[in-house]
Amino acid sequence: MTTRNWIKASLFGTSAAVSLLALISISTAQDGSPTGAITTRTHTFTPIRDDIYHVVGTGTVNVMSHAMLIEGEHDLLVVDSHVTPNAGMALLDAIKSVSDKPVRYLVNTHYHFDHAHGNQVFPQEVEIIGHPYTRQKLSGELGNVLEESTFLSFTESVPDQIENMRAELAQTSDPARTEELRARISMQQAHYESSQEIVPTPPNITVDDKMTIYQTVDGGGREIQIVHLGRGHTGGDVVVFLPDERLVYTGDLMVPGIPYMGDAYLNEWPDALERLKALDFDTILPGHGPVVQGKDRIDDLQAYMRDLWQRTAELKAQGLSFEEAATAIDLTGHSNNYPQLREPGADPRAIRRIYQLLDEQDGQP
Ligand SMILES: [Zn+2]
Repeated sequence: MTTRNWIKASLFGTSAAVSLLALISISTAQDGSPTGAITTRTHTFTPIRDDIYHVVGTGTVNVMSHAMLIEGEHDLLVVDSHVTPNAGMALLDAIKSVSDKPVRYLVNTHYHFDHAHGNQVFPQEVEIIGHPYTRQKLSGELGNVLEESTFLSFTESVPDQIENMRAELAQTSDPARTEELRARISMQQAHYESSQEIVPTPPNITVDDKMTIYQTVDGGGREIQIVHLGRGHTGGDVVVFLPDERLVYTGDLMVPGIPYMGDAYLNEWPDALERLKALDFDTILPGHGPVVQGKDRIDDLQAYMRDLWQRTAELKAQGLSFEEAATAIDLTGHSNNYPQLREPGADPRAIRRIYQLLDEQDGQP
């Protein structure tokens, strides 16, 4: 067992928690049923089904990924914990505006920093559920995740970003820009400080293939399936599937844009997405980006991944370095689905990863 570390995150200094309640707004329809979102200072909770919310940051705290909240009769299940103890604490505080029930389960869709480094602020009695690979990663069994290129590539540049914004702030005379910069500097400062306090905290319950929680709700048990569909975005993603609500929370296994691929199993990911499509749902809550209806966007991502893999393999066979391939690769045929592909090029971290996988296939270290 790992000792859960408690860090009292500083939520923008002083009065955030106090002012939170004053800022809650709840939209209601004529008949009084909730139709709109519940918005706190830090989060928007959009009801997707009865008592099931897609949770998105408002931009006052750097949360870096979405979450999901499922409210039962006695307790709550949360999916993903954001990027820092600070962001995780903001999530826990915001949840109190939606429900006074305790969080019982936290599911980590995968080990990535932006989904799991809020884990440590969840109370000791909260069970954290994830794939064994997520546990191995966050427990340090496979090395320190805080020293991995994925974590570093997103966090190392933050102090420079803050410095650049400070420099611009000193120059600008535009009041709107001044205000925007001040807010952003303050947010990124809090983000950076909290990122120094991260203690990777692994799941204490692991799911190899599938587990089901029957959450007590009025009149029965809500079936919540936690399912591993094969390697994809990481070596151990799980999705949270609610068959009766025809809804799935996909984390980064399926997002409406092009997901980060630096730790991916690109040669296996389209197959995992095929198994995702076999689940019976019509609504996807992604870990980043807007809610997706239907399954067509999954086809789009599979098609892009298969071409990305194929063309990268061709460029590698021609002797290009991964950096050269990342500049040269032409996937403009997918630009209708992904506007950034109007110009050739791809994320070099994705291409480097595909080179690694190709080397492994060829039996090279
Ligand atoms: Zn991720």
